[in-house]
Formats: sequence, C-alpha cells, structure tokens
Amino acid sequence: MQATPDSAVPHAAENRVIEPLYAEILRRNQGEKEFHQAVREVLETLGPVLAQRPEFVDARIIERICEPERQLIFRVPWSDDSGDIHVNRGFRVEFSSSLGPYKGGLRFHPSVNLGIVKFLGFEQIFKNALTGMPIGGGKGGSDFDPKGRSDAEIMRFCQSFMTELHRHLGEYTDVPAGDIGVGGREIGYLFGQYKRITNRFESGVLTGKGLGWGGALVRTEATGYGCVMFTAEMLRSRGESLDGQRIAVSGSGNVAIYAIEKAQQLGATVVTCSDSDGYVVDEKGIDLALLKEIKEAGRGRVAEYAERRAEAVFVPGAGVWDVPCDVALPCATQNELHEADALTLVRNGVKAVAEGANMPTTPEAVRVFQEAGVAFAPGKAANAGGVATSALEMQQNASRDSWTFAHTEERLAEIMRHIHDSCYTTAERYGSPGNYVVGANIAGFELVADAMLAQGLI
Ligand code: NDP
Repeated sequence: MQATPDSAVPHAAENRVIEPLYAEILRRNQGEKEFHQAVREVLETLGPVLAQRPEFVDARIIERICEPERQLIFRVPWSDDSGDIHVNRGFRVEFSSSLGPYKGGLRFHPSVNLGIVKFLGFEQIFKNALTGMPIGGGKGGSDFDPKGRSDAEIMRFCQSFMTELHRHLGEYTDVPAGDIGVGGREIGYLFGQYKRITNRFESGVLTGKGLGWGGALVRTEATGYGCVMFTAEMLRSRGESLDGQRIAVSGSGNVAIYAIEKAQQLGATVVTCSDSDGYVVDEKGIDLALLKEIKEAGRGRVAEYAERRAEAVFVPGAGVWDVPCDVALPCATQNELHEADALTLVRNGVKAVAEGANMPTTPEAVRVFQEAGVAFAPGKAANAGGVATSALEMQQNASRDSWTFAHTEERLAEIMRHIHDSCYTTAERYGSPGNYVVGANIAGFELVADAMLAQGLI
C-alpha cells in the first residue's frame, strides 16, 4: 500500500489486519487494476474504525464487503444497420444488498471490463450508504461503443442487453440507471424491453426514465448540481462561497453540463470544459445554451463549440487542468487527473476540488491536494446526488406521485448538506479533520458494516 497522510496512517495493529486482506484481494482479482485502486483507497482509511470496532474484524466484514454478492457476465449479440452481426459482453455486478436493492448505473463504453464494473460497484456501496437512502450497491454495463451508431442500432443493442439482464432485475432486487454512454434514450429502450418481456409496467425497476412515463424532475441535473452543492458546502465551512470563483470542469456529458449550470447559477464563471478530443477555453464563461445544443441535441464534439463562438479556443488532445482556476471539477472519467495536473492546479492557486466523475483523481494527485491543504471531495460523496435523486424517483414511483422541480431540488440540497456534514464530522471524530476521503469512507463503511452485523453471516 502507498503512504497515507499522517493523520490517516493506520496503527500497526490495524495494518496487520489490512495488509494481508489487501494482498488476498490482489491475488483473487488479478488484472482488475481499477478495482484494486478503489479497494486500496478505502482500506487505507479504515484503520481508526477497526481499532474502535473490533467486532467488524471478528465478523470479517472487510473480506465480505470486498466480495460481490453476485457477478453476472453475459453475451450481447446484435446486428447493425447493414445486417452485420456483433457480439459484445454485458456485465452486472450486484455488490451489496445490506441497505436495500442493488442500485447503480450501466456504462456503455469500449473500455468497460469486469475490473472497471467492480471498482464502480464497490464505490457505489459506500456512496449509496452516505445518501442515507435505502439502497444497496451495484453497477453494470458493456464494452459496446455507442459512438457513431444510429438510433436503430442503439435500440437493438439495448433490447438484446435487456433480454438477458431482465431476469436479474426488479424494483426490490436490482435497479439500474445511466452512466457514461447511457442516458435518457438508452433507459427508454431498456425499459421498453423490460416491460415487454415481463408484461409489467414496473416503474421502479430503472431510474433516469422520461418525465412522461415515471421519470423524476431533477434526475437529469442531479449529479452535476449535487457536486456543485457539495463544493459550496466545503467552501462555506472555510468561510467562502462560489460567487465570483473561476471554475474548470472536465467532460461535457451529463455530469459536466449540469455542474456548469449550477456553478453559473451560484455566481461562478466556468472557463473550460472538454471531451476525449480536447478542451475549450472561454474566458467570458461557457455559453451553456450553445454547449447543450451541441452535446445534448446534436451529440456533437466540443471542438464545434469553438467553431461557433468567437471568444472560445479549442486545444486538441489535452486535458483542462492547465487552465488556471479556483475550483476544479473533474466530471469525465476515472484517472483523468494525474499528479502533474494536481501540481499545476496547486501552483495556480486551486482552493477546492470535487469529483463529479467516479475516481477521476489518481491517488498521487489526491495526496498532492491534501498536502497542499486544498479542500478535496471524493466522488462517493460529491457525486452522490445522482443516485440520491434516483432513490427519490423510486419513492415517487412507489407512491404513484410526482414532485415539483423546486421540491425535488430542495430534497437534493438537503441530502448533499447531510452528506457533507456526515463526512466532515466523521473525519473529525476519527482524528483527520478536514479530510473528506477519510470521512466519506468511514461514514459509509460504518452504516454498511452495522447492517451486515445485524443481518448475520450471509
Ligand atoms: P456521459 O457519457 O454523459 O459523459 C462523459 C463525458 O466524459 C464525455 O464528455 C466524454 O467525452 C468524457 N469521457 C468519457 N470517457 C472518457 C475517456 N476515456 N477519456 C476522456 N474523456 C472521456 O457520462 P456522465 O456525464 O454520465 O458520467 C461522467 C462521470 O460521472 C463518470 O465517471 C460516471 O461514472 C460519473 N457519474 C455519473 C452519474 C450520472 O448520474 N450520470 C452519477 C455519478 C457518477 P467523449 O464524448 O469524447 O467520450
């Protein structure tokens, strides 16, 4: 394991518990490097709680929590518009049902493999616990690449994917949502096929649905909005606000777009965003209406933004972290913010970093921020607004109700404040004040571990 900041270094006794566990996880999950990274990042911070709660060690909670309850891998055959046949691989990892039905998104991206799905599912357990809602942890997806595919091809792929997956889902069993490459269109095709096969209009089986057929207001905005709300809380605890701050956002998908929207509403200026081709800088502040038109309506590239707006410049083949900013919001994908980027951001005076994406910051970069005293929020806390609003969608589905935008957004804001405060106070209680990584990991872990103890050896 790598060195941890002083305040988080486990005592030798806890190290003796954690080191062999981590070695065993490496041995049993070979080649799953993102999963190793996510597990290590959590285990490194659990020393103090294991010291105070030896019953977690006796009940082998860590070994059990690191082993998914169920892992599904399946074939997804489909034909393209020319009649050529393709075979993709589908995944669903049902990690933990201690707090509720498995809950977590589906990712369609060529990079998807079992290790990535397991890292995301593992993070999801603690994230979902932190929301305070009754949801367990899971994640899924496929190595299917939706880029450049027609609507009809996307539909055939989604139908084939759901033809296998439906038998493992249910509103009390497992409830997927979107993630990279899976938005409202895909959720529609997936829901349609589930309904057709099961002959049930079971609204609560998927979240992120269209507003006319069981979807919830604010779900689309929730992850980005929540990330910015969390950032505002971090700044507030340091006597500052977002008003007038200069912000860098990476990505230009669902999370990035709504992080930009909320940051602008709170008086900040977002000067950059990106996609996998490069980034745009717009010193006047991103024109969100134009960005939405290009990315949401046209499914286009950020390069087009610079073509259509004289104030903006496009920089190909690079990330956004060279652009000086007060606040950085990585909202694209895992391991996109490296140590050198963190050093640049610190040199440029960054005050706060909040992960809109899952694990976008490498462990070395996290250390740079923590050592420089930058407020750093891990994804499992900062991006939990998406899944929390999914749980609000499930509540509305169960009660056949639909809430207003203002009411749902206020619920989201309350939840983000609750997550912030529970991370903050837990970090203090366990001797690492201001360390949101320690706070989030321990607060989430305790909730799940207590439920596992109560439910017996299963
Ligand atoms: P989208 O598919 O809507 O957008 C993803 C964005 O990230 C796009 O701009 C994409 O660019 C960029 N991106 C994706 N992969 C890469 C890569 N390998 N290299 C560079 N850029 C990349 O996804 P979301 O916005 O929904 O998700 C973004 C992140 O947020 C993910 O980590 C996801 O797990 C996390 N998240 C999402 C939630 C949600 O509610 N949607 C909830 C919680 C976390 P391009 O188009 O060029 O690929």
